[in-house]
Amino acid sequence: MAKILIVGAGQAGLQLGHGLLQHGYDVTIVSDRTPADWRDAHVSSSQFQFATSLSYERELGLDWWDPAVPKVEGLGVTIPNPEGGDAPAVEWFGHLDSPGHSIDQRVKFPSWMEKFELRGGKLVIHAATPEDLDRYTAENDLVIVATGKGRLGQIFERWDERCTYDEPQRALALTYCHGVEPRGPFSSVCFNLIPGVGEYFVFEGLTLNGPCWIMTLEGIPGGPMDCWDDVRGDPKGHWEKTLWILETFLPWEYARVRNAELTDAKGILSGRFAPTVRKPVATTASGRKVLGLADAVLLNDPITGQGANNATKSAKMYLDAILERGEGPFDEAWMNATFERVWDRLQPVATWTNALLAPPPEHVINLLGAAGQYQEIADRFANGFDDPSDFFNWFMDPQLADQYLQEVASRA
Ligand SMILES: Cc1cc2nc3c(=O)[nH]c(=O)nc-3n(C[C@H](O)[C@H](O)[C@H](O)COP(=O)(O)OP(=O)(O)OC[C@H]3O[C@@H](n4cnc5c(N)ncnc54)[C@H](O)[C@@H]3O)c2cc1C
Repeated sequence: MAKILIVGAGQAGLQLGHGLLQHGYDVTIVSDRTPADWRDAHVSSSQFQFATSLSYERELGLDWWDPAVPKVEGLGVTIPNPEGGDAPAVEWFGHLDSPGHSIDQRVKFPSWMEKFELRGGKLVIHAATPEDLDRYTAENDLVIVATGKGRLGQIFERWDERCTYDEPQRALALTYCHGVEPRGPFSSVCFNLIPGVGEYFVFEGLTLNGPCWIMTLEGIPGGPMDCWDDVRGDPKGHWEKTLWILETFLPWEYARVRNAELTDAKGILSGRFAPTVRKPVATTASGRKVLGLADAVLLNDPITGQGANNATKSAKMYLDAILERGEGPFDEAWMNATFERVWDRLQPVATWTNALLAPPPEHVINLLGAAGQYQEIADRFANGFDDPSDFFNWFMDPQLADQYLQEVASRA
């Protein structure tokens, strides 16, 4: 059986490592963090996953947090009234066909690492460098780099034609807390869109000390929600900024958090990055090839909560491609072909995500408004997050959007 080495013990690297182990491969994962480091780290994501992505974890027996993890059954959209006031202009909730959930990466990754070793995988704790990659390629049949936003991913050349933006499009922050009041007819991702200012979404998840609420704040650069620089790493200051944003722009969300508090001093994060697509194959000093996986080569802004979902889909497709390859070589042509299959599936996710970072066009405003009137539209919007390619059949195109609105109205 082939010897395969994966750099990066995150969502994609660990899932792929477990999948390969189950098929008898000799697998090594190189991680710059120990399980204990992860449990003592700051939060890194809101990592909400939809049904398809969760099914790939379940296939590999990686879902042992069920039923402790809170199930989220829907996705709601709220838009404030431009005139201000305590009531939003738009508010509705779409029902997911199958629930999604979120498990803090500080809970999931160390546990998956420990299980990987128990199942016979080799875990090496080391912050890999480009020189290490050269050595790894000499010692293994295939080397995959799944280091997320880490610096090592810069060995892959930026794919200019596939990138929409050069600069970060949002100032990002995460706040994990306890004690938020529920909102809506069922547990939902509550997505609040504040035109010209940013976005805020909140939902239930599972963290180190049990069930929690996970808030993601996305501020347009230079605007009022781009406000984290002077409170970086300061839990009290970060919490106060979070409350200030909700009180100022989203009073119905502020009303939910009056009795809330941070889950822990490390339940905060702020930062920014540019959405970036990279060429999937890099060459080491000796001329051998390594293949990039997930965020290392296809990095989206979290506005649509797709990165972890993409990572699971990519890891699943890489696993299938490795199995299909059988005894054949993992050469450059195979690497490029493997990534192109992933790109075909995930390019719509990137295009839709990048579109949501821009001011919404008129047909999108009409659709979001109509979803408050027609449940069918709200449900379709929510379920599109599981398979964003559906947005290209109605949401992404003004003509298809009009046609769909007419169909829904006549059905109603
Ligand atoms: C604010 C925010 C909110 C988000 N919310 C969501 C959401 O709701 N839903 C969603 O689907 N996605 C979300 N994401 C994105 C999601 O978390 C990532 O896309 C996903 O974790 C990517 O998986 P990955 O395997 O590519 O990388 P990661 O999961 O980041 O794993 C990379 C691993 O590589 C390790 N590493 C890095 N460099 C090295 C090195 N040199 N040597 C060894 N190891 C190394 C890292 O420590 C890490 O363990 C969010 C991201 C952010 C920033």
